[in-house]
Amino acid sequence: MAKQDYNIRRTILIVDDEEVNLRIIGKIIGDEFDLIYAKSGEEALEIIRDKKDFLSLILLDLYMGGMHGFEVMEKLRAEEDLKKIPIIVLTADKGAEVESLHRGAVDFLSKPFDHPEVIRARVTRAIELSVDRNLIKNTEKDPLTGLMTKDFFFQYALEHDKFHQETPVDAIAIDFSKFHLINELYGRAFGDKILNAIADGIRDVLSTRRGIASRVDADLFYLYLEHQKEYDNLIKELRNPLELILKDSDIKLRVGIFQDEKRQATLYQRFDRALMACNNYFKFTHAATYTIYDDEMHDQELYEAMLVKNIDMAFREEQFKIVLQPKYDITGDEPVLSGAEVLVRWMHPEHGKISPDFFIPLLEENGLIKELDRYVWVQAAKALGRWRRSYGTSFPLSVNVSRVDIFDPGLLEFLLTLISENGLDPENLQLEITETAYTDNTSQVLAVVKELQEKGFKIAMDDFGKGYSSLNMLTNLPIDVLKLDMAFIRDIVENKKDMKMVEFIIDIGKFLEVPVVAEGVESKEQYLLLKEAGCDVIQGYYLSKPLSVEEFEKLIADND
Ligand code: C2E
Ligand code: CA
Ligand code: CA
Repeated sequence: MAKQDYNIRRTILIVDDEEVNLRIIGKIIGDEFDLIYAKSGEEALEIIRDKKDFLSLILLDLYMGGMHGFEVMEKLRAEEDLKKIPIIVLTADKGAEVESLHRGAVDFLSKPFDHPEVIRARVTRAIELSVDRNLIKNTEKDPLTGLMTKDFFFQYALEHDKFHQETPVDAIAIDFSKFHLINELYGRAFGDKILNAIADGIRDVLSTRRGIASRVDADLFYLYLEHQKEYDNLIKELRNPLELILKDSDIKLRVGIFQDEKRQATLYQRFDRALMACNNYFKFTHAATYTIYDDEMHDQELYEAMLVKNIDMAFREEQFKIVLQPKYDITGDEPVLSGAEVLVRWMHPEHGKISPDFFIPLLEENGLIKELDRYVWVQAAKALGRWRRSYGTSFPLSVNVSRVDIFDPGLLEFLLTLISENGLDPENLQLEITETAYTDNTSQVLAVVKELQEKGFKIAMDDFGKGYSSLNMLTNLPIDVLKLDMAFIRDIVENKKDMKMVEFIIDIGKFLEVPVVAEGVESKEQYLLLKEAGCDVIQGYYLSKPLSVEEFEKLIADND
């Protein structure tokens, strides 16, 4: 038999007005199938209309009080989406057996009932013959992979949930890291091939486990599966067809699992959480092949939701504060203060100081980052203006510019106004833009950043080395400063390879004729190595942690 797209307990409707018959059949096939009972033809029709997509078979008695079995069959045959459901007739009347087949029944069972095995075999065969062919109509299939469409998948899963409150099920989300790159690098045809390989893996998984599957979005698949005790074999089966194609490329399958044995979450919540686990794949477990949504993630979900709710209040009550981390020029004998990076902190009245690594991504998701960044830039510009007047200092402050800001049409005007209102020059404000911002929508990002540079703002490429910029691409980017990603610095003392990488990046800086800043410098050894390698500027705990505005102001006053 062909591999199935779904594998789930079938539902059978038994229509008989005699209680005892219902009970006998229930005993015989009740372990293997889900049974619904109707005691009359009228009741049967009502149930069938309601559950037409989920009924695999009807066992129909002929002689009942009220509507006759043949009449029920006639009514079913008249309706396009009802006539596909196979019917087995139950009867003691030998003469009616052949007529039943003529009228469209697929089989009959004689009363008194045969051996249980015979009944089980006939029921199973009737379902195999017709349901598998008809249950998933073409419109309910994803044309590419042949898996269920999203709508049908959820409809089916909801129905299953309703009738199986006690059966524990898992929600599983499967996607790829960097799938858009596959399409870009190897073409759509290859992308499609990969998606089909995943669908094949899913069919393998379903050949021995109960469940259903769907491709719900480009490279996102959902599996609704009976609860599993372990997942290693499942993951292996899932990946097998894929590995033959991908071999050792760095495109990775990510799997997130939500288990809900007590069934406390709704179907949609369960899949949202499976997806969340999937997205957390790298955050929580580096080497794992799958991630299970756990209490820790749940706590994080609640915490994040709480923070998002508190953002308005944070703006109103000015809970966002800036700190300044000094940067030092190390090209001379002694490090010399040459600027600072402006970093934001959230002083939450209940939760204390919250790290930007935590709340910036949340603000980016809902667009509020625009307001926060503008707020930070205003603070930075005011401080610069004040120092210029009091100390005559003119070194730059650098501020972070989120990728979201770059798509804000009012960006340039806002910055220019800020500069003129505070009596500054554009080059006093350095804009740190992370390297990966350029990979999203290169041409538009490029145009915006070029314009900023033309107006005189200095552009620092932040977290350099994390992204995929080629040397060729770099020569075309508007860059005034290269800021080495912190991860490269961490182990340079112990790890020769990392140090070689840093030297290489410093060479790129020389080639582009821009200074190189190393951040996250925590020790004297690191400082000396970087100095030796020709790095221009360092920033990090070794020379100074981020300081409050007052503390930093003291530093400039002393420096004077
Ligand atoms: P980033 O721009 O790469 O900032 C450098 C981060 O490294 C800062 O973390 C800084 O405190 C930390 N750091 C500095 N020296 C050291 C060191 O020696 N060792 C270690 N381990 N860390 C060091 P922070 O302030 O937590 O900021 C994290 C990230 O949040 C920033 O990374 C930046 O991407 C983002 N961010 C911070 N402030 C803003 C902001 O105002 N706007 C936007 N859009 N993003 C911001
Ligand atoms: Ca930065
Ligand atoms: Ca950085």
